[in-house]
Amino acid sequence: MDPFADIQTNPIVGNTSSNINTASSSSTTSGASGTMNNNNSTPSRYENQKRRDWNTFGQYLKNHRPPLTLSRCSGAHVLEFLRYLDQFGKTKVHTPICPFFGHPNPPAPCPCPLRQAWGSLDALIGRLRAAYEENGGRPEANPFGARAVRLYLREVRDLQSKARGISYEKKKRKRPQASSSSAPPSSSGEA
Ligand SMILES: [Zn+2]
Repeated sequence: MDPFADIQTNPIVGNTSSNINTASSSSTTSGASGTMNNNNSTPSRYENQKRRDWNTFGQYLKNHRPPLTLSRCSGAHVLEFLRYLDQFGKTKVHTPICPFFGHPNPPAPCPCPLRQAWGSLDALIGRLRAAYEENGGRPEANPFGARAVRLYLREVRDLQSKARGISYEKKKRKRPQASSSSAPPSSSGEA
């Protein structure tokens, strides 16, 4: 009956923080060696992550007070979820009064709060949006695609790029490093 029964029946829900934090760190494990041969494992890693995220969100709904079901979930609830995740974040976001505001690599510690990095949230929302529809949700009702969520993510991106001095423009997607290791073939003879 319940199209979202997956949430309840899946026993592998871990603790929320580790689930989310793997989102940002998992890319480092892919390494430079796995380029073309790894094509098969890449989608499944994404699928696994998506499933974990979906379980995490289901867990969040379950623990929500007042109780909240997926069908009543709105963009506002998604924002609430994202803000809740910030407590598990590991990305230092400087406040405007911090001397390191705008420094990508501050030379000393400061008391500014840790947050979820914008890139992690952005990727997370993408996975949850897909998972929602794969689990029977209607696209037009998808809370992860809500305008408020898009606006929030844009806001977070702007804020973090200013606070951390990091430009997120035209960020390259996980490009395999194959191109950097192969020198131009003509260089040996014609130099
Ligand atoms: Zn700071």
